[in-house]
Amino acid sequence: MAAPVTFTLDFEDLRTSPTQESRVEFATSLVLDRLAEKNIRGTIFCVADVAAREPRLLRRIAELGHEVAVHGLQHTPLDLLGETRFHEQTIRAKEILEDLTGQEISGFRAPQFSIVPETSWALDVLADIGFTYSSSILPVATLMYGWPGTPMTPFRWPQGLVEIPCPLVSFFGMHIPYLGGAYMRVLPSFVRRRGVRNAPAGSVLWTYCHPWEFDPDEEFYVYEHGGWMVSRIGWINRAGMLRRVENSMRDAVGPPLREVVASLGDLPEFTPDSNSERRAPLQGRLRRRADV
Ligand SMILES: [Zn+2]
Repeated sequence: MAAPVTFTLDFEDLRTSPTQESRVEFATSLVLDRLAEKNIRGTIFCVADVAAREPRLLRRIAELGHEVAVHGLQHTPLDLLGETRFHEQTIRAKEILEDLTGQEISGFRAPQFSIVPETSWALDVLADIGFTYSSSILPVATLMYGWPGTPMTPFRWPQGLVEIPCPLVSFFGMHIPYLGGAYMRVLPSFVRRRGVRNAPAGSVLWTYCHPWEFDPDEEFYVYEHGGWMVSRIGWINRAGMLRRVENSMRDAVGPPLREVVASLGDLPEFTPDSNSERRAPLQGRLRRRADV
């Protein structure tokens, strides 16, 4: 039987100049309208500085019953921020989003899944600020990010924080984060179907989409924190993204992640020092690029 899939969106704006046309409100509204038609509530991980420029949109997100969670103050990967700035910026991001929505914010997703062994100080920071869960871990090595050796199903960090790791599917011997980004846009649908129907027991499945992925008419540009190649990958095959997301959720839709976390019973604890593995050297060079 297929596992429920929760809709999550990383609300961000990768323009490098404010003089570029902003299409984030347009693209996000497309998605919100479709979710409302289908009575689907999800979790919207917001870059707080982008959210602050779109207060009306944020109010609408909250009014539609979606959970709002933090995706950074400015979408800077954690290794580029360092612990002190991460602490300051995450407090600020949480305050901004709580003021905009009236919701108490309890969830966090690191930009570019950038919680890795070298940034594990972020777990202390998140617990200290009062987050109850994170969905920031890719439990496999990829060219850009990931923490191989972490569990593939929900677990608890020693700090008490619950982690809902990025769902993976096995495909030609590789583990692939198939429910979002470029993987969602280029993989054939049978791979997604297989992932959803054969998810390991105890999995929590979620999409990770971005507003720009629903906007095939946006002109190509090179992202902040991304080179030409990564930006090009982010630009391809956007038409049909809504259909792919809907197909992924066809069998069963999960509630916002905050509600999923509240329903989980006892979870195994994962202690990084004793279990984490070293990342591949190539991954370290490429991980700072933008989401794809
Ligand atoms: Zn992001």
